[in-house]
Amino acid sequence: MDVTIFGSGYVGLVTGACLAEVGNTVLCIDIDPAKIDLLNSGGVPIYEPGLDELIKSNREAGRLRFSTDAEAGVRHGLFQFIAVGTPPDEDGSADLQYVLAVARTIGEHMDGYRILVDKSTVPVGTADKVAAAVRETQAARGATVEFDVVSNPEFLKEGAAIEDFMRPDRIIVGTDNPRTAELLRALYAPFNRSHDRLMVMDIRSAELTKYAANAMLATKISFMNELSNIAEAVGADIDKVRVGIGSDPRIGYQFIYPGCGYGGSCFPKDVRALEQTARSLGYDPQLLHAVEAVNFRQKELLFKKINDYFAGDLKGRTIALWGLSFKPNTDDMREASSRVLMESLWAAGASVRAFDPVAADETRRIYGERADLTLAADAMSALDGADALAILTEWAQFRSPNFATVHGKLKTPVIFDGRNILDGRLANAAGLTYVSIGRLPLR
Ligand code: NAD
Repeated sequence: MDVTIFGSGYVGLVTGACLAEVGNTVLCIDIDPAKIDLLNSGGVPIYEPGLDELIKSNREAGRLRFSTDAEAGVRHGLFQFIAVGTPPDEDGSADLQYVLAVARTIGEHMDGYRILVDKSTVPVGTADKVAAAVRETQAARGATVEFDVVSNPEFLKEGAAIEDFMRPDRIIVGTDNPRTAELLRALYAPFNRSHDRLMVMDIRSAELTKYAANAMLATKISFMNELSNIAEAVGADIDKVRVGIGSDPRIGYQFIYPGCGYGGSCFPKDVRALEQTARSLGYDPQLLHAVEAVNFRQKELLFKKINDYFAGDLKGRTIALWGLSFKPNTDDMREASSRVLMESLWAAGASVRAFDPVAADETRRIYGERADLTLAADAMSALDGADALAILTEWAQFRSPNFATVHGKLKTPVIFDGRNILDGRLANAAGLTYVSIGRLPLR
């Protein structure tokens, strides 16, 4: 089948590459010429495990192409995927300008029936706005070409995106048109083989399902972070509590790890957008508000612990950071906890020596060259001349460091583990002070 994808970011590239991999002919469109040039010269603008190879092989097979030519994109695919960003507006609601711009482009150039498949995360009611934008643009040129708008939210996780797309837990298709549902079922058939995971529902329920999923996951994290702070206050160990409650199958072990807050391009903005949707309809979403408020506070926790440890005397100190991306296996730093910590350290007059396996370029892009930021070539050289170490991202390679080497390099032998990934007893045995989140204090 012929597929066009508008937006060649994390979602668009993974969707395009995976749809091409199963035999479709895919044209990916983006308004960023630098991104398209890079893709056309064999590069990949983001880090996502397995994506380079998938793009390369499908480009070579002629099933995957990249262009800035939006008109060619509209002419190419029966399916017109919308996978552009929906960043937060000033009041936290989702900014739909990119989604609606794509809808207008499609309305302007479509010459036959098209299915607009909305993969971007958008507030309930957006499909109606997309349809209205297409109709208005068609009307402006005196056309009345048939089309459908489908809500097909994406649930992939950065870092495991290919696997998630290839073997999804569910495929949500929001449409009131049974014929369109069948066309989507055919497109997704290769990803829906062992048992039926494709759920057809009305458009509004599909749109809300995406927000509900992210809000639930964010709630689990904020709940555990709240509990970890209570554990610290009462002298309990959140790790023991986690194992204790996770054994109840109604709770489960997944996604109940405390830490220094959630970041990324989805949870923070989606919780805020859902909160904003509710408020705009006169409903006060107290739980959603608390989820975000707890997370905001949690992202400041590591700085507070570091500042307390050094009795407020951070000026002129150097803190080593392991991990900059908002989670492992991605270079995405949108709303990453590392940014909150770095910015607080800089404001307090401290310098940062950081190492991340893949996010150094993104860090440079965001912060540019600055005297109080050094990006080290590896984890151990990030410790050179540092007063203390803070761990922000649970990359596998940070989990079992040589504690004697760490001790030898740090001016003050202390580790602040924002992801609870180290064994504090081993750190102690090497003479290091170990500070983590919600666990019983070790020396
Ligand atoms: P992204 O910022 O990585 O990519 C968006 C791309 O769209 C950019 O390359 C941008 O240049 C391009 N774009 C903007 N306007 C355009 C236009 N008119 N025509 C063509 N391209 C245009 O964003 P992303 O992380 O891929 O997220 C896209 C959407 O998917 C968002 O709504 C997000 O909430 C949702 N989502 C993201 C994830 C994730 O893990 N990143 C997961 C599920 C859902």
